[in-house]
Amino acid sequence: MTRFVVGDDRSQSTLFPERLEDYLSEDNPVRAIDAFVDELDLAGLGFGGIEREATGRPAYHPATLLKIYVYGYLNRVQSSRRLERECQRNIELVWLTGRLMPDFKTIADFRKDNGEAIRRVCREFVVLCRRLELFSEASVAIDGSKFKAVNTRDRNFTQAKMQRRLAQIDESIARYLSQLDSADRQGGAVPEAKITRLNEKIATLREEIQRLNGLNTLMMQTEDKQISLTDPDARSMATSGRGSGMVGYNVQSAVDTKHHLIVTHEVTNVGSDRSQLSGMSEQARAAIGSEAIYLPKPMTSGLDVKGRFGKQDFVYVAADDVYLCPAGEQLIYHYTNEEDGKTLRRYWTNACQGCTLKGKCTTGKERRISRWEHEAVLEAVQARLDRNPAKMRLRRQTVEHPFGTIKSWMGSTHFQMKTLKHVGTEMALHVLAYNMKRVISILGVGALMEAIRA
Ligand code: SF4
Repeated sequence: MTRFVVGDDRSQSTLFPERLEDYLSEDNPVRAIDAFVDELDLAGLGFGGIEREATGRPAYHPATLLKIYVYGYLNRVQSSRRLERECQRNIELVWLTGRLMPDFKTIADFRKDNGEAIRRVCREFVVLCRRLELFSEASVAIDGSKFKAVNTRDRNFTQAKMQRRLAQIDESIARYLSQLDSADRQGGAVPEAKITRLNEKIATLREEIQRLNGLNTLMMQTEDKQISLTDPDARSMATSGRGSGMVGYNVQSAVDTKHHLIVTHEVTNVGSDRSQLSGMSEQARAAIGSEAIYLPKPMTSGLDVKGRFGKQDFVYVAADDVYLCPAGEQLIYHYTNEEDGKTLRRYWTNACQGCTLKGKCTTGKERRISRWEHEAVLEAVQARLDRNPAKMRLRRQTVEHPFGTIKSWMGSTHFQMKTLKHVGTEMALHVLAYNMKRVISILGVGALMEAIRA
C-alpha cells in the first residue's frame, strides 16, 4: 500500500461529464459574470459590433469578449495574450464562452475600441448595488492614490530632472577630459586602449546631450513642461513617502464606509487631489444619494513648520468675504486668477507694513491668502472632522482597502495600457472586478444572480 495520495494514470480512459454545465458548481462566481453580462443592454451602453455583418467572417459577439475581460480582471489575468491561452485551457472560461477561443488581437482590440462602454458597465454595477440597497446606511469616503504607468522614471523628464541629468553628464565629461589630460602628461605610459575608451565615452555622452537637448525642446513646448516617452499621458507624481515619487496616474475614488464598495472613480494625470475633490463628491452624491461625504484633510502650507503663521491661523468670515489674520486685521478680496487649472481668489490687507507680528507672518510686503473657489466644501468637511476625529481614521481605512486590494491584483506594473483614455478603461475593469468580488463575498453568488435577473 502506498503512503501517498496518487493521481490517475494518464493513459487510462476516463468518463468526463458530457455537459460543460457539470464542470461548474452552483456557486461559482463565473455564473454571476455570465448572468450580469447577459442582462446588460450592450447596444445601449455603446458597444460596437452588436449588429451582424452580412458579409465577411462572423465576428465574436461583444458579450463574449466582455465576459472574458470581466473574468480576467476578477482572476488577475489582465493581458490579452494570457487571456487567449486561458480561453483554451481554463475550464471556467471554456464554460463562459461556450468553447470559443478568440485570438489575443481580437481580445485586445475589444478593450481598446470599447473604453467608454466598458466604463458604463462599471457604473451599471454600481446601479445594481444601489438597487440591492448596499449603500442604504453608508457614507462615502473620498481619496486619491497614485498608480504606476508603463512609463519608467528614466523615460520621464521634468525641467528639474532634465537639468540634473545634463549637469551629471557635464560632470562626467569633465572627469573623462581631465583623465585624458593626465594621460597626455604621462605620454606613452598609458595604454592606447584606455585613451580610445575615454574618447568613446566622451562621444557617447555628447550624443546623449544632443538627444536630451532635442527632448528638452519638445518638453518646453508642452503645457506642464514635462514629457514621458513610453506613455505620453503619464506624469511624475509625488507620493507621501519621501523620495518615493512615481510616474503614473492619480486615481480618485469614492468608497462607501460600510461595505467598502467603490461608488465612483476617476483617473487623472494631475498629481494633486484637491482639484478633483468637489467633482468626485458630486459624482458620489449622485451615485448613492448620500449626503455624508468624507474628504481628505485640506492641505495646509509648510509655513507653520518654519515657525510662521499657516493658513489655518487665518479665519474666513463668509458673510463679509474676508479673512481675519492673527493681528485681527481684515484681509479683503483683491482679485481672482487661475493656477494649475484652479480658480483662486486672493486676499490681503495694507496693514502688514506696520504690524508687530509681521516677522512671524511674511517676508514679503504683505501676507496674501489664496482661496480656492470650492474651498467651502473642504471647510465644511474639516469642521465635521474636527467635531469627530475618528471619522478621519475611518476615511483612511475605508479607501485603503480597495486601493490596496486592486494594487496587489495589478502586480508590479499597475497598468498594461498607455494613455489616459486606455488606462481609464483598465481602471474601470479593475473597479468592476473589485466591486463584483465584494458583493459576492457579502451576498453570495446565488443572491447576486437573483438580483441581476430581477
Ligand atoms: S503681517 Fe499682515 S497679515 Fe500678518 S498678522 Fe500682521 S497684519 Fe496680519
